[in-house]
Amino acid sequence: MLPVTVAWQNWSGTERSNPALELSPEGADQISDTVRLARTTGTTVKPIGASHSFTAIGATEGIRLDLSRLRGLVNADLGRSRVTLWAGTRLWELPHILNPLGLALENMGDIDRQTISGATSTGTHGTGLALGGIATRVVGATLVDGTGGIRVIDEESSPELLPAVALGLGALGVLVTVTIQCVPRFLLRAVEAPAPLAEVLENYVELNRASDHFEFYWFPHTKGTRTKTNTRLPLDAGTKPLGRASRFVDEEIVNNVLLGAVVGVESLATGITPRVNQAIEAISSRRDYTDESHRVFITRRRVKFREMEYALPLEAVPEALRELRVMIERKGHTVSFPIEVRAAAADDLLLSTASGRESGYIAVHRFIKDRDHEYFRDAEAILAAHDGRPHWGKMHTLGAAELAERYPGFERFLEVRDELDPDRVFQNAYLARVLGE
Ligand SMILES: Cc1cc2nc3c(=O)[nH]c(=O)nc-3n(C[C@H](O)[C@H](O)[C@H](O)COP(=O)(O)OP(=O)(O)OC[C@H]3O[C@@H](n4cnc5c(N)ncnc54)[C@H](O)[C@@H]3O)c2cc1C
Repeated sequence: MLPVTVAWQNWSGTERSNPALELSPEGADQISDTVRLARTTGTTVKPIGASHSFTAIGATEGIRLDLSRLRGLVNADLGRSRVTLWAGTRLWELPHILNPLGLALENMGDIDRQTISGATSTGTHGTGLALGGIATRVVGATLVDGTGGIRVIDEESSPELLPAVALGLGALGVLVTVTIQCVPRFLLRAVEAPAPLAEVLENYVELNRASDHFEFYWFPHTKGTRTKTNTRLPLDAGTKPLGRASRFVDEEIVNNVLLGAVVGVESLATGITPRVNQAIEAISSRRDYTDESHRVFITRRRVKFREMEYALPLEAVPEALRELRVMIERKGHTVSFPIEVRAAAADDLLLSTASGRESGYIAVHRFIKDRDHEYFRDAEAILAAHDGRPHWGKMHTLGAAELAERYPGFERFLEVRDELDPDRVFQNAYLARVLGE
């Protein structure tokens, strides 16, 4: 575990910090020694995953723990379809680990660059009204707490800590392993189709209830959306993958190249954005394909952007979107990125954005070079007013007092934090803002 000092920045390049030291531990004992040393010297420790959070949740001036040496399968419990993974395992590594075991993640978000522990610690989610985010599948963990103690937390051992530790914002300790409840490997049939915004909003709740995974993208300045409806199928249903040409047109041209060109031009000539959005909407055709679940869930994102996402009570989503639409036109914002809308089941994790309620997610984006923060500010005012809860890994301005009102389990989470990290070894400025000192 040779120490180095490396300046850190997140994926979008919006957050930077200068850790005093970076270490790459090879096991729980080395992490424990580091935490003990930090505690006695008054230093902080911050484990980091793939740095794909848009917030400064991973920033530190203390010791940065790079967990890239802790990757892969620890063990599998095939009888219960569970795997224990080293905390630094990347999501893109999972198909290689899980496929031979006949297993898969139950649900995934849009990309697979994150680590399993970074994804669960911030509440990373996909879409599907009967399904929770990835952290809801955490059934066990090994954690080095703020005293350097190595704790096993699962259904038998300290189960009362699991609803906090499964989605802990990096505030409770360093996850060394996580045990994930998987499902048998499955296929997804995806149907992507354009649909009028008014129609989608009118039927929003029903559309979500009627399918395994429903989401849509609304292109601001247009009346159109692109919907994606995924149906879970058994492995023997047979695949009908996207042809290379179709994947290329959608992912490379629409998602990346064209969008990159548009957002690049946008900062120079904002007036053309509405027309280009209409063009993108027009060339997004209907597609119907079936493939391994992870191939359908995941898309490549090469254009860099900033993102804010709020979870709202499910029924509030149509009204919030109508308000966003009015706001964009009234304020004259030119918005080149589509607004992404997803859903998740209620869960019982203390700081899950879907804690205790069925949730709809609304995500707004800005091209990375676009310095205009007013669009996010105006959007946040609408989303927060609908009792919205911000994604922990995406941009927002809320602080501990406002967040405490939005999470029934907030106080309990703070109690667990006092127990596991009494001296705030894992503190950073972001956590001080959202959880308090
Ligand atoms: C292009 C892009 C697409 C995205 N798509 C989605 C999406 O579809 N759905 C969604 O919900 N989110 C999405 N996100 C957000 C992303 O999933 C989260 O921000 C996630 O946390 C990133 O994982 P990471 O490994 O990069 O974690 P990092 O950003 O590196 O870390 C996040 C937090 O986890 C903590 N952490 C990391 N490892 C450990 C550990 N071993 N022990 C304790 N704490 C730890 C860190 O301290 C930090 O607090 C996206 C982000 C990007 C950039």
